[in-house]
Amino acid sequence: MIIIKGKIVVISGPSGVGKGTICKRIMELINAKFSVSTTTRSPREGEINGKDYYFVSTEVFREKIKNNEFLEYNIYNENYYGTSKNEVLDIINKGINVLLEIDVNGAYNIKKIFPEALLIYIAPPSMEVLRQRLIDRRTEEISVIENRLKIAEEELKMVEFYDYVIVNDDLDKAILEVKECILKKI
Ligand code: 5GP
Repeated sequence: MIIIKGKIVVISGPSGVGKGTICKRIMELINAKFSVSTTTRSPREGEINGKDYYFVSTEVFREKIKNNEFLEYNIYNENYYGTSKNEVLDIINKGINVLLEIDVNGAYNIKKIFPEALLIYIAPPSMEVLRQRLIDRRTEEISVIENRLKIAEEELKMVEFYDYVIVNDDLDKAILEVKECILKKI
């Protein structure tokens, strides 16, 4: 019997670029499951444990690292974020496609493990637009926003290993472009 494994699609982009909205819409347009990451960051208003993230303590996260439970993990703005090995392998081994929304370091590590994974980076039209979006979102204090902007600048320098970079200057257009890239691959 031949089992065709599910494909891995990775979407990354700086905080505030709209990748959360893009991923939600993409999940309605393509045939894939979303991989829920684990994090030590506190939930934002409206975020649901087990749906947006598995929210855990630093102690629990470190235990999971020791137990080799992550495919990849990273520290982003002083919090841990990790992709569950079991979750992703269970999905792709059933022949189902999986969507990961993770940072640039995570994407790099996933590409090393799964060279056939499709990597898409969502870029802002400019850093100024990104700054304003983060301020308007009102989910973080200004010091956290400044830190996230610094990370975004660093991330942008590393995007050449992505298969596609899509600029989100028009949300509907960006969603269509992401969908097209994915449908070419899956
Ligand atoms: P946020 O705090 O805004 O939800 O996420 C912060 C950053 O962590 C984003 O760039 C997001 O894509 C990334 N991220 C979320 N889950 C994971 C994960 O499992 N692994 C890695 N490496 N990054 C993640």
